[in-house]
Amino acid sequence: MSEEARLRAEITELRGQLQEAEDTLSAIRSGEVDALVVGSQVYTLESADASSNRLRKDVLAQMEDAVVACDDTGHLIYLNPAAEARYGTSASAALGRTWTDLFEERWPNDDDRQKAADELEKNGVSRRHTLQLTRAGARIHVETTMSRLKDASGAPIGHLSVIRDVTDRERIEAALRESRAHLRFMLDSAGVGDWDLDLSTLEARHSLRHDQCFGYSEPVPGWSPRVFFAHVHPDDREFVKARFKTSLEAGSDWTFECRVIWPDGSIHWIEVHGAIYRNGEEPARMLGTIVEVTRRKSVEEALRSADRSKDEFLATLAHELRNPLAPIRNALEIMQLTREPQTLDSARHIIERQLRQMIHLVDDLLDISRITQGKIELRPDRIDMLTVLHSAVETSRPLIESRRQELTLRLPPADALIVRADSTRLVQVIANLLNNAAKYTPEGGRIVLGARLDAGHAVVTVEDSGLGIPAAMLPRVFDMFAQVDRSLERSQGGLGIGLALVKKLVEMHGGSVHAESEGENRGSRFTVRVPTIAGCAGSARARPRPTDALPYLGTRVLIVDDNVDSASSLATMFELLGCRTALAHDGLAAVREAETFAPELAVLDIGLPGISGHEAARRIRQLPAGRTMLLVAVSGWGQDADRTRSIEAGFDHHLVKPVDIEALRGMLPRRVVNNVHRIDRTASGR
Ligand code: ADP
Repeated sequence: MSEEARLRAEITELRGQLQEAEDTLSAIRSGEVDALVVGSQVYTLESADASSNRLRKDVLAQMEDAVVACDDTGHLIYLNPAAEARYGTSASAALGRTWTDLFEERWPNDDDRQKAADELEKNGVSRRHTLQLTRAGARIHVETTMSRLKDASGAPIGHLSVIRDVTDRERIEAALRESRAHLRFMLDSAGVGDWDLDLSTLEARHSLRHDQCFGYSEPVPGWSPRVFFAHVHPDDREFVKARFKTSLEAGSDWTFECRVIWPDGSIHWIEVHGAIYRNGEEPARMLGTIVEVTRRKSVEEALRSADRSKDEFLATLAHELRNPLAPIRNALEIMQLTREPQTLDSARHIIERQLRQMIHLVDDLLDISRITQGKIELRPDRIDMLTVLHSAVETSRPLIESRRQELTLRLPPADALIVRADSTRLVQVIANLLNNAAKYTPEGGRIVLGARLDAGHAVVTVEDSGLGIPAAMLPRVFDMFAQVDRSLERSQGGLGIGLALVKKLVEMHGGSVHAESEGENRGSRFTVRVPTIAGCAGSARARPRPTDALPYLGTRVLIVDDNVDSASSLATMFELLGCRTALAHDGLAAVREAETFAPELAVLDIGLPGISGHEAARRIRQLPAGRTMLLVAVSGWGQDADRTRSIEAGFDHHLVKPVDIEALRGMLPRRVVNNVHRIDRTASGR
């Protein structure tokens, strides 16, 4: 080959090399390559364009992400300073070794690994989330962007990885996930739904709880403001729309309650809270919570109604308590002005009637409060319902007679209805129903009291031909303070608690009561059912009944009260019954009288000068005469604790002022008879 030809060939080769160098340079400039491996030599970017090379070096040096390049065989050909720091090695020590000398890579799962490999293969780039365990001993969550390195001809020569430490981000995301889970748990357990509305697309994200507030048990797809308003009760729609509008305009938070209609047609209450989030000036999203508050609403309504009833009750109570005072005062005036026996007698009757009315009111009040507090205890016994009905009739007869009403009794024979019951309380129940029948039936009307056995129950009915009860009121008459009509014309004196008391007492006996009426002026029927004792008809124990034949005559009664008038009027009453009486006005005198007078019955006021009634009773019980004496406490206080204190002091009975003379009188003969028994027993040595 001639010299010229040799030179030409050399020039052609140099041109080729130049072309290759230029291609490589342009590849490096365009960022496709970070380093070159030629044969066993590694060429970094030093040889590229000086200024762009420096820039690259600076950028790589300042990057917080680790940048690592490997050749095809996985040998390291480049590490930036961040990689050196992270993996605890210098580039010069690491180059030529494999990347596995820097860290071990852990994948969340094999799928992710395969996906990343496929992506790299297909696109030349892949992104992956892995955990790196560095040889320096750190565990770091990384996000790696891996790209293929190619040579000038486009042939793959290795990989470049930009490895971002996302451990902090992972931790924050985990904390965020946890706090979201907490929030979800709390919202769910508090029954709070949540929703998030994009105002530009009107698409809403909402929890299942949210959907449940509208009566759905499965998530509802395609929720939107339109769907929401379709569920809002028509009567509430306008106000809810206005609420949204104002808060959108003002950009303010809002809260409201409204009714929604569920798919089954039922009406429910929801409470909604919301806030608006802006994107710059424009409202972008609405976020909110929603709770179903139907139960709370009904409880609130019940409370409001109870509050109204209480106010009405207090007004009625004031009225009812004041009512009897005027006639009592008038009667007293009359008694002062005249000695004419008939007028005196009628004045006395007025006082008695009015007083009885007041006592009845107060007793009912005390009873209802005791029942409400669970403080009433029944004293059940085997009793014949017939006895109860007769006693109730006796109690109500004066009222029925004063109204000239006709009372018909349709009663079974004795011993046909044996129940286990507290006879005083059952008498109270039936007398209450009879009194109501008399009160709410015009003068001259008819009342029928009936009783029969039905399916193991004593069924007692009280029917009248009176005002009747409107159908709407029937379910409510047994509610506390319920009165059909509070107008004065209909008012018959009462607080609206009598039937509540009846219901509670009957239920305490395991029974039931219900009311029927065909409407206004068509009369009413009240039916009480109390279980009978199975198979023991005819075996009721005969109860000792006080009769007028028992010997009061000469019975010694001691009356102790610091109120002289009260003591002497009570004494007069006992004397009229034939008793002998002694009086004392303080505790010590009471003990003295008990010793010397040795009464069979001593009635002691509790609040006494000197020593209290309790102390006096204790001392009297120590006396020989005091052991068998019937001791009765009289007090203004009638709570169970007061009764217990009296019994503990040695009293046999505790009566609440004003004393029911009948009760006192009823006690007396029975006690005398018992005493006789006791003396007989002692005498016969049994
Ligand atoms: P009150 O003290 O008002 O009589 P009750 O609880 O005994 O209270 O009765 C409640 C209401 O039920 C009465 O106010 C009355 O309106 C109605 N009521 C009770 N019994 C009768 C009846 N026999 N006939 C008509 N209405 C009645």
